[in-house]
Amino acid sequence: MTSPYPHLLAPLDLGFTRLKNRVLMGSMHTGLEDGDEHLPRLAAFFAERARGGAGLMITGGYAPNTEGWLAPNSSQLTHRSAARKHRIVTDAVHAEGGKIVLQILHCGRYGAHPRSVSCSATQSPITAFAARELSPLGIERQIAAFVRCAALAREAGYDGVEVMGSEGYLINQFLVRHTNHRSDRWGGSLENRMRLPVEIVSRVREKVGPDFIIVYRMSLLDLVPDGQSWDETVLLAKAVEKAGATILNTGIGWHEARVPTIATSVPRAAFAWLSRKLKPEVGIPVCTSNRINTPEVAEQLLADGSADMVSMARPLLADAEFVNKAARNAAAEINTCIACNQACLDHIFTGRIASCLVNPRACFETLLNYRPAARPKKIAVVGAGPAGLASATVLAQRGHRVDLFEAAAEIGGQFNMAKRIPGKEEFHESLRYYGRLVETSGVRLHLGCRADAARLIAGGYDEVILATGVTPREPAIPGLAAALASGKALTYVDVLLRGAPVGKRVAVVGAGGIGYDVSEFLVEGGHSPTLDTALWLRQWGVADPAQARGGVAGVQPQVEPPAREVFLLQRKSSKPGAGLGKSTGWIHRTMLNMKRVQAFSGVNYEAVEPAGLRLSFGEGRVKPQLLEVDHIVVCAGQEPLRELQAPLQAAGIRTHLIGGADVAAELDAKRAIDQGSRLAAEI
Ligand code: FAD
Ligand code: NAP
Ligand code: SF4
Repeated sequence: MTSPYPHLLAPLDLGFTRLKNRVLMGSMHTGLEDGDEHLPRLAAFFAERARGGAGLMITGGYAPNTEGWLAPNSSQLTHRSAARKHRIVTDAVHAEGGKIVLQILHCGRYGAHPRSVSCSATQSPITAFAARELSPLGIERQIAAFVRCAALAREAGYDGVEVMGSEGYLINQFLVRHTNHRSDRWGGSLENRMRLPVEIVSRVREKVGPDFIIVYRMSLLDLVPDGQSWDETVLLAKAVEKAGATILNTGIGWHEARVPTIATSVPRAAFAWLSRKLKPEVGIPVCTSNRINTPEVAEQLLADGSADMVSMARPLLADAEFVNKAARNAAAEINTCIACNQACLDHIFTGRIASCLVNPRACFETLLNYRPAARPKKIAVVGAGPAGLASATVLAQRGHRVDLFEAAAEIGGQFNMAKRIPGKEEFHESLRYYGRLVETSGVRLHLGCRADAARLIAGGYDEVILATGVTPREPAIPGLAAALASGKALTYVDVLLRGAPVGKRVAVVGAGGIGYDVSEFLVEGGHSPTLDTALWLRQWGVADPAQARGGVAGVQPQVEPPAREVFLLQRKSSKPGAGLGKSTGWIHRTMLNMKRVQAFSGVNYEAVEPAGLRLSFGEGRVKPQLLEVDHIVVCAGQEPLRELQAPLQAAGIRTHLIGGADVAAELDAKRAIDQGSRLAAEI
């Protein structure tokens, strides 16, 4: 059989060693790096991905000294005793035929601690501490720390190191005038500003010898003012190659950039044009990155000469078997990363171990396993939303006999609304994945079948899982019920699922995740910038770094006019959108600002009237006014749907509630899938 992805699966000869394919699992901080006690879990995490076929894996970042910490006591590799402990990780990976390199990450002014250092005394907009300026001797000490860390990585059994030179960390800080204000041999001219990475790479190479991988990760687009010009980027790449790097990995945007770079609304492979520009300039392999999540996209980038390797980090969190599935022509079975950040990045930003919304086993490989059932049972799962799909498929994989009942004509529950939101197209992939998994796992699916208590009781089931989800809440606003009946008011289900026509001026009641999504749906008017890379880049003001330093300087975002005038309302006095995702909330708020959506807090809904929505503000009910709108769309949260529970329990059937049917408040797909999977692992 010819290979379905010939470029992706082609080996890469590095001279002294060979990678089995072009997939590089990019570095992700999972939280398991922080503390030796997690090393067995980290070993299981990487071993599973090595077994799954990844060509080369990169660990989360390890600081080479305390000054380079991300946060107090976060991951570092500074002593031989620590290096010895890493053997559990490297041995596990090698036993599976994999290769792994350790990332050396010096955070510079991004360190969230009072000992942070940088080229100049500056404070980043995303950290609470100002960095101290390094003396020339201090700079030499940082270089020596990189070299020692690389030597320790070699002792620990790693196949190489990645020198982290992108995303705005210490090395980037030296490279550009935005942060480097020095006038000695480490600042000023380009030669001086790039002395730090060149010295690090050449001295690491000198120390570790010729047969050790050195990946240098460089920023191709800083997305900060006064960032690198394209000429400087090319000169740096050539200098790093000459200094002894084996592979050039790439990164996009400093962490403080105000342009999204990996969120789900970023078009797939939106930045690959930059690695395509760099590749002809150097002789070593170039790796492209950012929002590449399927084998088809990766194959295309390699085939069209955009890169020699493709970095996929979160996609291998979502599915450890990504490469093996691609290799056996079973891409439809890949659990695709939807770039939501909800369980990976958002967990790290809130001090929790990372996992994955679509794969709760990620980083929990030693704790959550789907083993064959000791005694197969006959089980009914009611509702094929994310919770029901997760539990039904895990149960069937474990050997239980599962009937899955879904009232609608298709699986997916609320995901069928989420997928219609511009910028949430990736939700289609989860539906494709679950659709295929239902087939392969042997779940008996009954579509268009609303299960009732009598049928379930007569079915002779050992256990029933109710994953029946939610119903939209109808707030007690005078006139709303009549307006819903007349069509003046609509629910988000009417708009997103039933395709109800919506006028040009709209009030959205409720500014939670769904209120924001519905507003985006209304202002985009059916055209998703996520599916139009050129439009998306213009909208966010991203320029070619050959024309504008850092890809931003002097570029004004060009936003298409909104399709509708939208007013987004909430009763709370807090800032609208405050409860959105930690790493993505700012993107939704910025997008709605760009589309001139007017958001109001502290609203009292006095009445729905034929001409619109009568409002007042605050406890004093001040500023009474009629907001004249064509339609009112209600996005005011949900109530659990669980009327089947009582009759089933009365009939003596063991009944479980999961997802929205269990707790509707603050429910998201992460909780729904996690709860469904964990319950199914235990039955
Ligand atoms: P549901 O998805 O509501 O599924 C319940 C299913 O049960 C439905 O298909 C229903 O038809 C079926 N059912 C009910 N009663 C019966 C019966 N008696 N017999 C047979 N079938 C029955 N979450 C996130 O985490 N991230 C997001 O970005 C995100 N975006 C969203 C965007 C929108 C527009 C919406 C509407 C939701 C979004 N969510 C998001 C929320 C997420 O979709 C829900 O949390 C999740 O779908 C809840 O899963 P569930 O399985 O509990 O319920
Ligand atoms: P939500 O986040 O709980 O928001 C509900 C909104 O309705 C709030 O703004 C609330 O604000 C308002 N509300 C609640 N009761 C009301 C009442 N009686 N009258 C008027 N307004 C009322 O829920 P959601 O927006 O329905 O989203 C459901 C879940 O889906 C969320 O928990 C979220 O996690 C998930 N989701 C996630 C995303 C994402 O991007 N991660 C996107 C969409 C949905 P006030 O009470 O202040 O008015
Ligand atoms: Fe991808 Fe979301 Fe999983 Fe993170 S949590 S790996 S972004 S699907």
